[in-house]
Amino acid sequence: MHQLTKTDFKYYLDCPETIWLLKNKPEVYPKGEFSLFAEKLINEGYEVETYAKQLFTNGLDLPEYGSPKETQNALTDTHSVYFQPSFSTNKDIFARIDILERLADGTWHIYEVKSSTSIKKDRKHRHIEDACFQKYVLTECGYAVSKVSIIHLNAAYVKQGAIIPSELLEIVDITEKVNAIYSGVVNQINAGSNFINKEVINENVCSCKYKTRSNHCDAFGYFNTTIPEYSIYEIGRISAKKVGLLADNEQYAIIDIPKDFELNVNQQTQVESVKQEQPIINKTSIKREFDKLKFPLHFIDYETYASAIPRIDGLSPHKHLTFQVSIHTLTEDNTLTHFEHLLDAMQMPTDMLCAMQDFTGGAGTFISWHASFEISRNKDLIEWLPQFTNYLTYINEHTFDLETIFKKDYIDYRFHGSSSIKKVLPVLCPDISYSDLDVNNGTMALDTWGRMVLDKDFSEDIESTRKNLLEYCELDTLAMVKLYEVLTKLF
Ligand code: SF4
Repeated sequence: MHQLTKTDFKYYLDCPETIWLLKNKPEVYPKGEFSLFAEKLINEGYEVETYAKQLFTNGLDLPEYGSPKETQNALTDTHSVYFQPSFSTNKDIFARIDILERLADGTWHIYEVKSSTSIKKDRKHRHIEDACFQKYVLTECGYAVSKVSIIHLNAAYVKQGAIIPSELLEIVDITEKVNAIYSGVVNQINAGSNFINKEVINENVCSCKYKTRSNHCDAFGYFNTTIPEYSIYEIGRISAKKVGLLADNEQYAIIDIPKDFELNVNQQTQVESVKQEQPIINKTSIKREFDKLKFPLHFIDYETYASAIPRIDGLSPHKHLTFQVSIHTLTEDNTLTHFEHLLDAMQMPTDMLCAMQDFTGGAGTFISWHASFEISRNKDLIEWLPQFTNYLTYINEHTFDLETIFKKDYIDYRFHGSSSIKKVLPVLCPDISYSDLDVNNGTMALDTWGRMVLDKDFSEDIESTRKNLLEYCELDTLAMVKLYEVLTKLF
């Protein structure tokens, strides 16, 4: 019999087929890119739990991977609070409770600890269903649960000195919310347990053929082997309704979409690009956009570090600290210069902003990719370091987002419906590649820098780690320069 955990149950609610495949044929489940980000989230969850435990006096820490038998023995002692007790039903439905409190009347209070700053009900988080799952397992094991709470981070908390757990965290009673959906969730838990224990399911198709790409998991290709390379799922912002209409007629290839099928202008352009097997470029519009830019052009990119528990004074949970910048500046006479700065410690980037300001001055246009990110970081920096308000406000008011060109004016079927620089660059500038770099994406940069400045046992060479980080950020802005040059050659 396969065990059903809270995480498995969340998978089941998302998609029964994917958890069935993971349980029954893990060897064929296509692994997505190893997620450093997911690992970071798990570690952050542990860290938040450490502070949550400090809200309770005299709690008993059970072994991290302790068995339900160990829990059973421990619950007989005189403690009223237990950390990490585990329980399992006779159908092998397993729960490890973050914090469990014995109340004066002998009933139990479950606390679920979350590293978010609110109770989240969306598909990715399902905090209330999570709590129902925990209550169900405890109840099945013969423990009366009378209260359920969520402990989450307080978004308004600002670190000043040592972390104060009672200010960092909020406890919210969700007993009524749990009771309102409990019986329905219990039915789903039992259905989930039955489903993962089925010997066979239909592996020739799955329900995501009716859903948009953002809903697909890594197993989409496994269950839908006949979907062609340039498929309807790649069409930017296509609705599930339209995907459904096409799927019903088995029109999965973009080239099979009927001429009179209703799509918006950008979607039609994408279809046309696939059909003609060439890019569709609106040169007039690109020129109009570029005519608005003012030299010097500063191609800018930040790398940031965000953590659930704020690391330095002045920060709140999950705020992004900008720890690195790369700027390539292009003058009207085609001179290209480069500026970079990487913090050596977890601190406010005061020196970095001073040096940046010296390099760029307050003139010209700043160009970034997906500029809303850099603009938001500048707004945070203005709040923390108001002495740079004029400079950062200038940047925000004179920023151009190069990605917008690839959303509407330069559509190439080889981008597969994406405007990410990682999809655009290899098509337009195949000589430049991230693949040879030791640090080759933002999550790796965050993780590497965080370990370098925080981990006392960091064993990698600091100089080469710094070099790897600098190379990655530099390539991000050089890539923008090269793409800008490709575009300017069009007219
Ligand atoms: S692609 Fe969708 S329906 Fe298919 S297994 Fe993945 S999540 Fe489930």
